Amino acid sequence: MRIPIIAGNWKMFKTVAEAKDFATALPAIEKGVEAVVCVPFTALSSVGEILSRKNVSLGAQNVHWEEEGAFTGEISPLMLKELGVKYAIIGHSERRAYFNETNETVNLRIKAALKHGIHPIVCVGEDLQQRETGQTKAVVKEQMEAAMQGISQEDLFKFVIAYEPIWAIGTGKTSSAEDANEVIGYIRQLIADQFDQNTAIQVRIQYGGSVKPENIAGFMDQPDIDGALVGGASLKPDSFAALLKGA
Ligand code: 13P
Repeated sequence: MRIPIIAGNWKMFKTVAEAKDFATALPAIEKGVEAVVCVPFTALSSVGEILSRKNVSLGAQNVHWEEEGAFTGEISPLMLKELGVKYAIIGHSERRAYFNETNETVNLRIKAALKHGIHPIVCVGEDLQQRETGQTKAVVKEQMEAAMQGISQEDLFKFVIAYEPIWAIGTGKTSSAEDANEVIGYIRQLIADQFDQNTAIQVRIQYGGSVKPENIAGFMDQPDIDGALVGGASLKPDSFAALLKGA
């Protein structure tokens, strides 16, 4: 039985004051769906406790693979753990496109997160040109296989995978729920190929890309989709609460 998981990805939005306002205004989340908000590093320490009182888990948007060192501008898994971070987004397409994130560094970050008890939210997905030339499954396969390199079955259960077609991010265009379900079913098959069917049916896989309160139910109705990773529509407390209601 997979518990649905709705995660907000705030990206580079919200000062500490704005993040606190959000957390304070958010109604307590009822059980049945897991809620996570991945906030900027600067807001982690101020909102973690308020969010936990609302049954919302704290997430970060990246994590480095070393515990410490000369890595200017990066963040250590130890530093995140100290602040009560439960989830970290790893390999978001914006990190891959603008900050040279590769399949190899995604795998290193995943292993470091797991070592410190942080659950990775691993992002995969194709761009528009790849979709239009029929490469969606090949791209996702390459990203998934690299992400799962050297990962044990026990650790895989801690994963959340987010299928985010790049052309649907921040564009208002969504994949159809059926198309998203097909790719997500394919991701589940890749897990079954590497491990087994029983493992594959236990891993949660989200859809991401222009998910809103008005369209979330259509995705959640699909058999292989276990939640959503949401950017823009997670920034307002009423909208985030509506997403959780609709899930
Ligand atoms: P939007 O929901 O704003 O399209 O962003 C999706 C996303 O990138 C979540 O990680």
